[in-house]
Amino acid sequence: MLNKPGAGDLFPGAGEIWKARKRITGLAGETPLLYSAGLSKVYRASVYLKLEYIQPTGSFKLRGAASKILSLKQEEQNQGVATFSTGNHGLAVAYVAGKMGIPAAIFISERVPEVKVNNLRALGANLIIYGENQDDAEEYCYKKAEEEDWVVVKPFDDPLVIAGQGIIGLELLEQLPDLDTVVVPLSGGGLISGIAIAIKTAFPHLQVIGVSMKGSPAMYHSLIADRPVNLKEKSTLADSLLGGIGLDNKYTFSIVQKYVDEVVLVSEEAIAEGMADLFRSERIVVEGAAATTVAVLAERKLIEPNSRVVLILSGNNIDSLSFIKAIGGYLK
Ligand SMILES: *Cc1c(COP(=O)(O)O)cnc(C)c1O
Repeated sequence: MLNKPGAGDLFPGAGEIWKARKRITGLAGETPLLYSAGLSKVYRASVYLKLEYIQPTGSFKLRGAASKILSLKQEEQNQGVATFSTGNHGLAVAYVAGKMGIPAAIFISERVPEVKVNNLRALGANLIIYGENQDDAEEYCYKKAEEEDWVVVKPFDDPLVIAGQGIIGLELLEQLPDLDTVVVPLSGGGLISGIAIAIKTAFPHLQVIGVSMKGSPAMYHSLIADRPVNLKEKSTLADSLLGGIGLDNKYTFSIVQKYVDEVVLVSEEAIAEGMADLFRSERIVVEGAAATTVAVLAERKLIEPNSRVVLILSGNNIDSLSFIKAIGGYLK
């Protein structure tokens, strides 16, 4: 029988998130929640920032990768793990494997920029360069993983990865139990799925809002079509939000359908302005994906005046020149 997406019993429950939290202590720690007086004044709400970019490797992805890799059997760990992500997920897998002393193979295409290659290599990962684009690298990753008995650590559509990201939700409920709204950057949906399960199973009336860039929001269009769809990618400041949700998506699509209140799209200008806003108000530097959350505040209709809003600042992997170029026009 097919594993039909939408079957509720496939979801990881809040209990899995508590277990993941226990499991990854020591590899990925709790992050602070910062009240922003500056943003609160501008946007007439109480704005809190969840500082996920301070995790080692600069993003929350460490939580999911650690949750998954630490759940593997000893033999599987000895055999090694693999992934085809060149972004924050790849960095997280390389970091966790390095810390645990287990082999990690990262599959990248010939097109991957040198900076990324160097960052991955610095973490001690075995880089396997194959093909002209990321799809080639992915296909080769699954082929080699099968031959070598490596576990492929998926970036979002895995209950153990989702449970890892969900720890952020548990921390928020402790740090600010009377929060009203959480705004979460949304791509494949692992991050928002975990957070939504943690928060909605405890307090169903709290609002969980996803945010993607206007250019190619795969989850947004999948929700409208009522099934996973692929989109052509358009270049964006929120490069960590690029990529589809997988046409054979098993978990995150149904979880987002069930628990997420709303998905908002933001323009490239609004993302750049969000980056500038965070820098101006708090001297915080984030990548475009994280700044999408600030852009949502400008959409006032979603946020009740004077409510308590948490923005998930998911990562800070951006080079200095790109950052300066992005915010340059918005600094007054
Ligand atoms: C991966 C990533 C996201 C989106 O996470 P999904 O689980 O794919 O929705 C958001 N921000 C940053 C910085 C990321 O690296």
